[in-house]
Amino acid sequence: MEDIQTWLREGWQEFTYQQGELCCEEVSLNHLAREVGLPFYVYSSRSIREAFLSYKEGFGDQKHIIAYAVKANENLSIIHLLRQLGAGADIVSVGQLYRAQLAGIPGHKILYSGVGKTDREIRAALEAGILFFNVESEEELVRISQISEEVQIRAGIAIRINPDVDPKTHPYISTGMKEHKFGVEIPAAIELYRRAEADPWLEVRGIQCHIGSQITEPSPHREALERVLMVRAQLSEMGIETRYIDLGGGLGIRYSEEEPPAPAEFVRGLLEIAGGLDVSWILEPGRSIVGNSGALVCQVLYRKEHGGKHYTIVDAGMNDLIRPAIYEAFHPILPVCQSDQPDHRIHTEVVGPICESTDQFAWDRSLPPLEQKDLLAILAAGAYGAAMSSNYNAKPFCPEILVDGKEWRLIRRRQTIEELVAFEREFLAEA
Ligand SMILES: *Cc1c(COP(=O)(O)O)cnc(C)c1O
Repeated sequence: MEDIQTWLREGWQEFTYQQGELCCEEVSLNHLAREVGLPFYVYSSRSIREAFLSYKEGFGDQKHIIAYAVKANENLSIIHLLRQLGAGADIVSVGQLYRAQLAGIPGHKILYSGVGKTDREIRAALEAGILFFNVESEEELVRISQISEEVQIRAGIAIRINPDVDPKTHPYISTGMKEHKFGVEIPAAIELYRRAEADPWLEVRGIQCHIGSQITEPSPHREALERVLMVRAQLSEMGIETRYIDLGGGLGIRYSEEEPPAPAEFVRGLLEIAGGLDVSWILEPGRSIVGNSGALVCQVLYRKEHGGKHYTIVDAGMNDLIRPAIYEAFHPILPVCQSDQPDHRIHTEVVGPICESTDQFAWDRSLPPLEQKDLLAILAAGAYGAAMSSNYNAKPFCPEILVDGKEWRLIRRRQTIEELVAFEREFLAEA
């Protein structure tokens, strides 16, 4: 199946073998392991920059905001790197608002998405002067208007329409079909626009949709855009202008054999459909910006044969990277030290230490023979990796490193076990 032969020879994207050692750009992963211990996440800033600049190239001189979907990777230094390139932010919580602000993203480049915004979050976003809320229900629209009046700040809004388009991706990451909780069906959305337009505390700014994630062919986004343009024309006839068209995120990346379009090509395809329309474009990419930049590096603890299978037990688990456990997602895995017997292979189950049967990174994976203490890099882990990690089994968050050429920087240190219990210590009953 996967082209493991090529990967074992050359590596994966910005992770290449140099003198037999897997490196992120010019930095050896063995070296990083000695510096920060195991496991750890490492990201290539070159990969992040290239993906972002490819989006930018696609837009050319069309007005646009590339609003990085912070949930894909929330590390402040990564948001900061993207801000330096001109990114805005798509956020879904007050915690992410705080992160975007700390990274220096101005309010007028921030969009607020999500079906369940709380009062406190709406208030904080209004005070931060965000560009608009992507509204997902009538009750939310009413609540935003009430809070706007309370704080005396008008709210920019877009309605997130549910275009009922099949994104042809994993069902757990599809969001734009009518059976999903997201967005508002088109006829109801038109009604909400009518209401918002008449409300002195609301300012209609745009129209938004987001149909899912890891979408690797162009047709679903194109179909969604066609529906958005239809709704926009209908609104325009009613005298309601939507200056921003926001098509969400969702462009996929390569995990094994997928061949998604480059961001520039993807954007040009969309602009073609709109045919020179005078609007401001917004996209909210997450995975396609950071996904291929990252690897989770871990160490082989033990090996065993059991029930007719070979197991490789590593020191990272579903607490560090949960995608394989919840989506059976495929991630390429490469040994950090290149094998000197490239034709010799084992078939192994790569599993973590957590007390769950789904704590697994690979099923029946073909790899070179591994020894105890060998390092493995689990690739394409830059998006929804560290961001979805947890402290399950009282495991601390692992460090994150950002590489740029020959330079590297610790952008999150390892959490301590004392920090894990700090919130509880103060409530510990006296003996
Ligand atoms: C998750 C999400 C995104 C980012 O999706 P990717 O697939 O990572 O590009 C963008 N917008 C909204 C509303 C989202 O929920």
